[in-house]
Amino acid sequence: MTDRAGEAYVRRYNQALKRLLTAKSGEPLHELSPEMGANITLEHDRPEWHALLDQVDWSTGAVQVAAAAANVGHIEVFNPVSSGLLVVVDTAIVLIPAASTYELQLDPAAAGTPTKNFPVDTRVKTAASQNRIANNVAGVSGVNIAEVQGVVGAQYAAFVFKPVILLPGHHLAIQENSRCDVATSLRGLVPRVRRGIDALLGVARDRGWSYRVTSVRRSYRVQARLFRNYSRYRRAGYSDAQIAQVAGLYHPAAPGRSMHQLGRAADIEFYPTSAQAEAGRIWQSMGGRWGGATDPVHFEA
Ligand SMILES: [Zn+2]
Repeated sequence: MTDRAGEAYVRRYNQALKRLLTAKSGEPLHELSPEMGANITLEHDRPEWHALLDQVDWSTGAVQVAAAAANVGHIEVFNPVSSGLLVVVDTAIVLIPAASTYELQLDPAAAGTPTKNFPVDTRVKTAASQNRIANNVAGVSGVNIAEVQGVVGAQYAAFVFKPVILLPGHHLAIQENSRCDVATSLRGLVPRVRRGIDALLGVARDRGWSYRVTSVRRSYRVQARLFRNYSRYRRAGYSDAQIAQVAGLYHPAAPGRSMHQLGRAADIEFYPTSAQAEAGRIWQSMGGRWGGATDPVHFEA
């Protein structure tokens, strides 16, 4: 590297050209021949040239953050303090979202154990950037630069994203703000049911339970997709319990027949797990219908 802006680029591109053309001499390669100039359009580097420019294309891969009651799920990419490199993040996608708000935070409180990202060019052996995942974060922090609302049943939630450039020591996180989704998503309930669910959650708080609202109002399309996924597993011979375990689907109603579409049902996970059935019994004593053993997260009225 050099302390003069521009010099480093000259050197980098000379080096790339020499590697590309397998030139051996130590002299900078300014010109190939009088008839042929080296013409590089910086914005249109081909991906296979990136490695020639000592640029490592990398990915975190699809990483999973386990849900933890009353905590914020957190995955971050960070540039180690003395890497001497820039880390550029150009995509961040939430796969299989919950009904949560996902926030993109610049430089939040660091959390989790570092794991190496991996290069996506098989010629390259290591990537300097790393990632950390954590599910014990008490709240969101950092500068919020984008957010997206997750929809249950969707395959992914994508941020409106501009590349984020991280100097050494900086990091970028996706935080699943599952606490703020309670207020947001419960707004999808009709008022009578909303009052009932609010009362149920009040009882839960009094008893020291925590909870996570995973689905409230669904469109016809979302319900149809859930039902299709569920039916596919059934046809493949899975039991309801197995489908709940592998796909998190609790026997969804056929499209047009779900109380979720009418704003009259909410799916809520209670913690500790022993609280789930107890919450169901409380809901029934309030006059509501509970999903029971086949759909323990489902509360409708
Ligand atoms: Zn439900």
